Amino acid sequence: MVQVPVAEGVFTWPADEPELIGSRCSACGMVTFPTQDSCPRCASTAMEEQRLARRGRLWAWTIQDFPPPAPPYTGPTGADFVPFGIGYVELPGEVKVETRLTESDPAVLTIGMEMELVVVPFRTDDDGNEVMTFAFRPVG
Ligand SMILES: [Zn+2]
Repeated sequence: MVQVPVAEGVFTWPADEPELIGSRCSACGMVTFPTQDSCPRCASTAMEEQRLARRGRLWAWTIQDFPPPAPPYTGPTGADFVPFGIGYVELPGEVKVETRLTESDPAVLTIGMEMELVVVPFRTDDDGNEVMTFAFRPVG
């Protein structure tokens, strides 16, 4: 099965240690994810690509226990839907990333826990490709 990223320019793939692709403002240093053409803080257009840290801390989370509205959601629905965690992971000195979580069990998710970037299967597209997306999982 061919694996394809859910979108281009969001994370490095294929890669043994995938990284999210953000941008950094050359004028004020603000980091964004996903990339932006101009800085949301100072409006500079001197944005450079920056590979983001692969580890951060869980800042907020919840469990998505029903399919989100489609579009933009393109994943499984109905009987195929499996609840998943969503949240924000704060990458040190960079940015808070809104992300899918590999865990959907509230008992294992704690604010402040260390999280690591992974790339996981999201769905199978009409051509039979396995569509991959990024997520964060607890470390250890
Ligand atoms: Zn700026």
